[in-house]
Amino acid sequence: MNRVRLNDIQGQDGAIEILRRAVGTQKVAHAYLFSGPAGVGKSMTAQALAMVLNCRDKGSDACGECIDCRKILKRMHPDVIEVSLPDNKARIPIDAVRSLGRQLKTRPHEGRARVAIIDPADFMTEPAANALLKPLEEPSPGNFLILISDRAHALLATVRSRCQVVRFRPLPEAVVTDLLCDSGLQPREAGVVAAFSNGSMAQAQLYARSDLDDRVEQVLTFLETGVRPTPDQGLQVASSLKKNRADAVALLDMMSVILAEILWIQTHGKATRDRPLVEKLGPRLGDLASMLTSLHISKMVAAAHRTARSIQVNNMSPQLAFEAMLMDIRGRADASAAGSGFGA
Ligand SMILES: [Zn+2]
Repeated sequence: MNRVRLNDIQGQDGAIEILRRAVGTQKVAHAYLFSGPAGVGKSMTAQALAMVLNCRDKGSDACGECIDCRKILKRMHPDVIEVSLPDNKARIPIDAVRSLGRQLKTRPHEGRARVAIIDPADFMTEPAANALLKPLEEPSPGNFLILISDRAHALLATVRSRCQVVRFRPLPEAVVTDLLCDSGLQPREAGVVAAFSNGSMAQAQLYARSDLDDRVEQVLTFLETGVRPTPDQGLQVASSLKKNRADAVALLDMMSVILAEILWIQTHGKATRDRPLVEKLGPRLGDLASMLTSLHISKMVAAAHRTARSIQVNNMSPQLAFEAMLMDIRGRADASAAGSGFGA
């Protein structure tokens, strides 16, 4: 996908419309905050905006062909500056922002507009974010700032309030499927990966590269153990996670998707064609749908949410967190089966 223009961005109609209108009426804000989940097109849109502001065509969208467009696509345009996390640094340091501030005081070198993109903006140190206030308050003509973040709440309020916020949403599943097919995946596999993607291409690409089948197997085994006589297999899943937080959280995300699909089956009965997950997981999903009550499922959803928090916020070891979750969902399942208060 080499032609990244505003019109090429998929699944973000609201955000693109705001920007298109701003370009059309020549009311482009001098500072934007592109806020929304990772992997939904924020960086691509920033590049597309930089392109339309510099394109020699001066149309409502970039041409993608002129010298300025091509330099921007190759990330070689002197007026499009990207500030990102330096290698081996955990935050964007103040020096990077100060040097950017100096550049933003001058006129663009070659193009019509200088566009500075800070991504991920929430990784600026506090002094760095404070150093950005002046350029945000006193923009010089022809200079534009785009802050990109999937954790906009973590930005300083003083920075946030000086930007026009443009919200990006999770991509529709069909858009993720199409984009995966464009990148060479078979439609059936693309549909399954998209179903697990939570509307994020970053997540989808991770699943497309890794062994999705193994992960699905782990999730199904874990859920099945919730209603099995012994917890052994679920404990094995927990111990395989060891200290891998990212893997553990990915499994919990997949668990939520599978639980939602089980509820869907329970609600719609067996006539479930054209659902990529139903097609892929087939009988095992059907078995879970008949074994689990909707009460089990809601308890499991709540437990998955708690477990993700324990791992991400409270720094609990993934193995311990999954073991606790297993006891939790089994205990509740037993209580429910015995009719002691939870009742079906
Ligand atoms: Zn152009």
